[in-house]
Amino acid sequence: CGIFGVWGHEKASELTYIALHSLQHRGQNGAGIVASNGEFLFGARGLGLLNEALSTEQVKSLKPFPNAIGHVRYATKTSSELANVQPFLFKSYSGDLGLAHNGNFTNAIHLRKALESEGSIFQTSSDIEVFAHLLKRSKSRNKKGKIKSALRQIKGAYAFAILHEDSLTVALDDHGVRPLMLGKIDGCWCVASETCAFSAIGAEYIRDLEPGELITISDEGIEYDRHSFVENPSMCSMEYIYFARADSEFRHHSTYRIRKALGEALSEEMNVDADIVIGVPDSSLAAARGYANKSGIPHEAGLLKNRYVGRTFITPGQEARERAVRMKLSPVRDIVEGKKIIVIDDSIVRGTTSKYIVKALRKAGAKEVHMGVSSPPLKHPCFYGIDVSTHAEIIASKKTTEEIRDEIGADSLTYLSVGKMHEVYHSFGSRGQCDACFTGNYPIEVVDNVLPQVK
Ligand code: 5GP
Ligand code: SF4
Ligand code: MG
Repeated sequence: CGIFGVWGHEKASELTYIALHSLQHRGQNGAGIVASNGEFLFGARGLGLLNEALSTEQVKSLKPFPNAIGHVRYATKTSSELANVQPFLFKSYSGDLGLAHNGNFTNAIHLRKALESEGSIFQTSSDIEVFAHLLKRSKSRNKKGKIKSALRQIKGAYAFAILHEDSLTVALDDHGVRPLMLGKIDGCWCVASETCAFSAIGAEYIRDLEPGELITISDEGIEYDRHSFVENPSMCSMEYIYFARADSEFRHHSTYRIRKALGEALSEEMNVDADIVIGVPDSSLAAARGYANKSGIPHEAGLLKNRYVGRTFITPGQEARERAVRMKLSPVRDIVEGKKIIVIDDSIVRGTTSKYIVKALRKAGAKEVHMGVSSPPLKHPCFYGIDVSTHAEIIASKKTTEEIRDEIGADSLTYLSVGKMHEVYHSFGSRGQCDACFTGNYPIEVVDNVLPQVK
């Protein structure tokens, strides 16, 4: 999912809309905005892509309000109903509450059962409804105390934007798994999941939030605080590998540069002779360029992407997914015919994409097809907010690299090693990365031990 928030700007809802548009790759199943006039909160939300989810009239109706948060949602098929679309808006005499969240609690079921046994009832299957109950039940006297006490009961990965009528609070879990960035526009503070949102609205990117950090923004200014004094930095490796947009920055380094470095690192481990290197558009083009630079093998656009096909990865059903990949990617025959080719992709999950690519390149006349993957073999499910239900089908959880090579029909298959991957992240100032989907070492306790429904 993707979140955005801005405080005290005369164009708050318009800026939020534009920012959400640039975060669309983080969630395509629903979107919403909640805005505050300093007294009450008002909201609009809908299903689908941003332009389907929110009408111009709805965004216009929020125009007079200078404070806003927004959300784009990534859901699996089963839980994509409107009730789960964020931000959530709770009305109460003790003050309205708007909530937007990216991540996944690993003790949501546990907490929910405890709350239900004390009389709470729920309308949705969303983690944030649990958070709202914890917050409103807290005995702390002020808003910040209530937020802190609610956050302390949650386990898992989260980046939160919490809107009260008089303040915007943002918080990151003490492992800092999901990204959250602080920015400034026309003298007003704003926050976003990725810095591409700042570029889209013309805001300045100030810095990344730290694990365990809690920031409150109000008419009085900005207040830096912590909700946890433990810090175990475990930023999600997949954000760098494919999830974030290439122009988004982490600690002031673009994902493009990080991906390029992953490609360079792969070339040191792969050692295959070939005529050309090609990347799978779009997310693997940076890694392919890095591979080509380091190996001295020319980089060519050997695969073309039809930009009018949506995300193939979340298409339900294997047959439909295969058709979608076929419609999305085509080899450039003139470039690949008669060549020994290295194809770089950022990851193999089910193997649908690589299997099709190898076949299509051979059909277009490629002499040899060697597959290079700029991440380690993906073997374990993610409990922290990345594409979940589908991981039941992950190919490397059951097969060896040689068996996968055989299944996708490539001449060779090389993955980046876990060690090299960390070396690259370290060189870009990372203080620690989650690699659980590669290694099975989960940095945060998974209390519920149930795969989450929501990404
Ligand atoms: P596969 O086809 O092997 O199932 O998935 C690998 C391809 O899907 C790669 O091209 C990669 O860029 C993309 N991919 C990997 N993980 C995800 C994910 O969680 N969501 C989406 N939308 N794409 C993914
Ligand atoms: Fe990211 Fe993988 Fe960790 Fe999930 S398990 S947070 S996808 S690195
Ligand atoms: Mg891809």
